[in-house]
Amino acid sequence: MKISLIIPCHNEEKAIPFLYEELDKVSKELSKYEMEFLFVNDGSTDGTIEILRELAAKDVRIHYYSFSRNFGKEAAMYAGFCNAAGDYVAVMDADLQDPPSLLPEMVRILEEEDYDSVATRRVSRAGEPPIRSFFARQFYKLINKISDVDIVDGARDYRLMKRSMVDAVVQLQEYNRFSKGIFGWVGFKTCWLPYENTKRVAGETNWSFWKLFKYAMDGIVNFSQVPLTIASYCGVFLTFVSFIAILFVVIRKLIFGDPVAGWASLVCIITFLGGVQLFCIGIMGQYISKTYLETKKRPHYIISESNDEDVTAVH
Ligand code: UDP
Ligand code: MG
Repeated sequence: MKISLIIPCHNEEKAIPFLYEELDKVSKELSKYEMEFLFVNDGSTDGTIEILRELAAKDVRIHYYSFSRNFGKEAAMYAGFCNAAGDYVAVMDADLQDPPSLLPEMVRILEEEDYDSVATRRVSRAGEPPIRSFFARQFYKLINKISDVDIVDGARDYRLMKRSMVDAVVQLQEYNRFSKGIFGWVGFKTCWLPYENTKRVAGETNWSFWKLFKYAMDGIVNFSQVPLTIASYCGVFLTFVSFIAILFVVIRKLIFGDPVAGWASLVCIITFLGGVQLFCIGIMGQYISKTYLETKKRPHYIISESNDEDVTAVH
């Protein structure tokens, strides 16, 4: 039995040595399994690649894949899935916020119980700015209302999956990837392990508020068509309102004659309608731009350096 651990790294030179130490420890606990560590260097601008080269030279379990530029964590995970050989595959952050110490328990659950994957969720968001937690919570509420797939609040990307599930995830080749949705979409029986949030061991978070916001929007557009429906409902509603307004104006004209007044209210109505129209076109634009990117069928990632000979370098 082989376990593959995928570790996306973007500027993690400070964290990787700590992580490696921990990984070494748990792999001793899991000594009856063969292990491989797949480090994906996602266009780091610091010394991450040198550290990976060094580690790979002294430990044969380490494979590293270095992207030609920053493609994002989703692409890094995908590259990992495409190149992982294990019967069990896990994704883990480089900063020890996904505690490797949970691994033995995760492996035990897959072995002994009837599950295809073990996922983790944070039960607390301690150590995170409150405003970020607030928006995150609202996002999960919203997306679960308007999307068919279940997306669990506090779910991490940290999960251990059986081969069958990994193959399914690799089969979903969309360019705009949102893993939290993809894991839910493919189905399979998932066991949820709750744990307390921990601070990152070293280095800094790669996610600004703006980046997270865009990621959340991507999640919504990728896994829900509800915004499009909202746009058409807006249209239906406004047509109805204007119909009533026309009736009102005509009847008033017939009964009371023709008082010329009300340009101010007209301007208000025109700007309001202009706004609603632009909003709806904007929503459609979001979906069209996604479709545009999908139809180009560009690769998710390009690997420029690796110590693995049979690497899938572009996919
Ligand atoms: N990451 C990546 N590419 C990026 C951004 C992040 O591979 O463009 C990796 C990063 O190195 C880390 C993981 O994704 O291993 C999670 O990132 P981070 O810890 O910055 O996110 P947070 O835990 O703050 O949400
Ligand atoms: Mg982190």
